[in-house]
Amino acid sequence: MAAGKQLVINRDWCKGCGICAAFCPKQVLELVDEKVQKVHEDQCIFCGQCEMRCPDYAIYIEEAENEEINQWVKSY
Ligand code: SF4
Ligand code: SF4
Repeated sequence: MAAGKQLVINRDWCKGCGICAAFCPKQVLELVDEKVQKVHEDQCIFCGQCEMRCPDYAIYIEEAENEEINQWVKSY
């Protein structure tokens, strides 16, 4: 896993369409109980495909070194 980056899933927003899992080149994602989950998180290359394809903005890459954004995301 690349340092300083994290893949975040907002389960409340995920509608389980599976688009992100279908486009992920590393098979990181799978649907479990109609929500997407990171089943092979260590394989993620942070290519951004899932973030770009999700119609509901439910999955995104977070830059862990930017503390201001982290705080904003957490308090949101
Ligand atoms: S960033 Fe790329 S490799 Fe990581 S889960 Fe999303 S699509 Fe898969
Ligand atoms: S593309 Fe978005 S809404 Fe669809 S399964 Fe993935 S995270 Fe959920």
